[in-house]
Amino acid sequence: MDLGIAGRVALVTASSRGLGYDVACRLAQEGVKLAMCARTVEVLQDAADRIRDSYQTEVQNIVCDLTDERQSTSMVDDVIGRFGAVDILVVNCGGPPSGAFMEHDDRRWRDAVDLNLMSAVYLTRAVVPQMMKRRWGRIVFMTSISVKQPIDGLILSNSVRAATVGLAKSLANELGPYGICVNSVCPGYFQTGRVQQLAEQHASKTQGRPQDLLDAWARQNALQRVGDPAEFGPLVAFLCSERAAYLTGTAIAIDGGLCRSLY
Ligand code: NAD
Repeated sequence: MDLGIAGRVALVTASSRGLGYDVACRLAQEGVKLAMCARTVEVLQDAADRIRDSYQTEVQNIVCDLTDERQSTSMVDDVIGRFGAVDILVVNCGGPPSGAFMEHDDRRWRDAVDLNLMSAVYLTRAVVPQMMKRRWGRIVFMTSISVKQPIDGLILSNSVRAATVGLAKSLANELGPYGICVNSVCPGYFQTGRVQQLAEQHASKTQGRPQDLLDAWARQNALQRVGDPAEFGPLVAFLCSERAAYLTGTAIAIDGGLCRSLY
């Protein structure tokens, strides 16, 4: 299927590795002009070079800490300066630390809000005015299956990401009249650095082996395996496409059947 977005401009954040990198690859494959960001210059440069070489598309790479509003706004300005627009925004960022309620002080709660809610607020605020003028836009928030089915030991993620989905749903209503679609995607377990880190953190607390935990996570879903990051990007690319013009305000699970609820 031709997604109809060749020549559009996409900004995919935290895209030097993991799920964000796969989203960047899939959009580059569709012929978008791509802007990527991360905090570490060498890792970002390397990822941008690989995408440029593989998909022969224009790639702009910008170092940015997404918890800093000034840096996020200036990144969006730089992308508009180079490519003339941001048509597609995919908001990805790191995940907050694991732990139960009594393990987190106020600082940790505020950091989680900065990381997963305010990063989305800053970027959306920066891109929306020019999308409204052109009456076309796609915004996707990358959250977690924890917004549909809270995950034990991840209380920060369970709480703050639910706010991000509330933001996406409200934005879908506000921005729909301008042809801007806003959706959330909710990954289950994918084999990335984040999941490996969570398995190692948990194993160090329980004296277990990270691989045993990964195997247990795999057994929780219908497909009985952890996802490959390459299975994630196509969904986001579709949501960002011309073909998804009547799809807004949704929060779509991509979790191998992990979530047990009907909807
Ligand atoms: P990851 O940890 O492999 O990658 C996240 C990237 O975000 C890293 O490159 C990290 O350096 C970057 N980052 C962190 N803080 C940042 C900041 N302040 N500014 C800029 N970049 C920052 O994670 P992933 O597995 O690719 O997952 C992507 C998102 O989806 C994360 O929020 C994660 O918590 C969430 N998620 C992942 C899974 C999974 O199975 N992989 C499941 C549910 C939710």
